[in-house]
Amino acid sequence: MKLNIQNTFTSELPADSNPENYTRQVENACYSLATPITTKAPKLLHVNKDVANDLGFSKDDITSKEFENLITGNSIYTNTEPYAMCYGGHQFGNWAGQLGDGRAINLFQVKTDKSYTLQLKGAGKTPYSRTADGLAVLRSSIREYLCAEAMYHLGVPTTRSLSLALSGDEVLRDVLYNGNPAYEPGAIVCRIAESFIRFGNFQIFASRNDKTTLAALMNYTIRHHFPHLEENNKDDYAKLFQEIVNATLKMIVHWQRVGFVHGVMNTDNMSVLGLTIDYGPYGWLDNYDPDWTPNTTDRQNRRYRYGQQPNIGLWNLYQLANTFYTLTEDAAPLEKALNSYKTQFEEQNLAMMCAKIGIQTINKQDYILIQSLETNLKLIETDMTIFFRLLATANNIEDCIEAFYIPEQLTGEVLTEWQAWFDQYHTRLESEEISKNERIKKMNAVNPKYVLRNYMSQLAIEAAEKGDYNLINELYDLVQNPYEEQPKYQKWFAKRPDWAKSKVGCSMLSCSS
Ligand code: AMP
Ligand code: MG
Repeated sequence: MKLNIQNTFTSELPADSNPENYTRQVENACYSLATPITTKAPKLLHVNKDVANDLGFSKDDITSKEFENLITGNSIYTNTEPYAMCYGGHQFGNWAGQLGDGRAINLFQVKTDKSYTLQLKGAGKTPYSRTADGLAVLRSSIREYLCAEAMYHLGVPTTRSLSLALSGDEVLRDVLYNGNPAYEPGAIVCRIAESFIRFGNFQIFASRNDKTTLAALMNYTIRHHFPHLEENNKDDYAKLFQEIVNATLKMIVHWQRVGFVHGVMNTDNMSVLGLTIDYGPYGWLDNYDPDWTPNTTDRQNRRYRYGQQPNIGLWNLYQLANTFYTLTEDAAPLEKALNSYKTQFEEQNLAMMCAKIGIQTINKQDYILIQSLETNLKLIETDMTIFFRLLATANNIEDCIEAFYIPEQLTGEVLTEWQAWFDQYHTRLESEEISKNERIKKMNAVNPKYVLRNYMSQLAIEAAEKGDYNLINELYDLVQNPYEEQPKYQKWFAKRPDWAKSKVGCSMLSCSS
């Protein structure tokens, strides 16, 4: 195994001076050293061969014991020192103070055409573990492993998965936080990203008025991720903020396009590169319902519901703007960037929705057509993914009948509303110059045929908990080509089955993972 290690994060940024691994507040440092624990019986369940290859692992490497030990934290790569990052965050609207990598341990950075950090999730405690155990269970690890890849192939910016392994240890979890803890199989995901820096990595230093470390981290971010900007330059710090605004918005518009609900958009879960990060109680819209959130911990306020994600993105950016202000001391450019989020959102969301319905030449009036579509989608339970996929070739609403959960409800006023919408829609399409075939092709490239519905992961989890990992392999294979027709997987182009409607793990997920 020969990797091109280049650890810039640990070599260029201030470290915690205390090498011990116990829970504490860590000041004036971007990270603390933390060694993964040894697990009882590590067992590799899945490797992402493409990612492994990109990182420089050979075919032989990924079948070796050495690799299994590496991605479960049982051995440390030569001359590297694993570490946990210090960050804070606003959780559910409130400042939560220091959080940090409580159960994520960064192994090292590998330099290929780009630089990637390898990070283990669930490999034991760090100085940021607070009262928790630093571990992860199989069900949440399968969900993270598969979903990151599903998102990647959908074209959504995201962290990626390298491997999924069992630790061989048992982990105690109270899934619904209702006083019923039980042991579950422990697991470790190795995930990769060009950077795992979150809004909260900046926020923690501003909250402590530690401008020195804040500037160091901001300069580091510029140097490695936004090299066209200048370090130690207040104007360029503001430009960096604008870039983060743009990247965040772009990511969220993709989420809205594919019907992904993150579930925990706390500022510690927001990447400064605009990557989808921390797959916890996320979910996919089955029936189109902007008020839906998978996260039972958020059931009362539904702060992180699907339709609210763009606004929460902006709220989070306001918090980050306050952090940037600590260094720039000039609010105007930061406010300008925040205002641009609103105008850009209007534009990009309209463009995205127009693309979903196959309109190429966007005109401002199209938002009316889109608004009435969104209203109609809520009239009776309508599957978002199936509806948009069928729309490409539909001549009328009856051609989309498969998208309705109770097709018999398509009568009376509901039917009239839909017929009226199709009339307007087809009139609008007539003013387009593109051919029908070309339009269908373009629509199929933005409306996925296959998404990783909540119940699908749940089936893979239930099988895996019984020792059968075939469905993990099948779903992994399926999500590689979400926009293609895959006749052998036609069964996954289906509405959520009734049993999954209110089942724990399908439509109800907690933060317990
Ligand atoms: P999350 O909501 O999963 O993004 O986690 C919020 C914070 O809690 C982060 O600082 C995590 O590192 C930490 N955390 C979550 N689960 C655990 C765990 N089992 N052990 C230690 N820290 C955890
Ligand atoms: Mg997190």
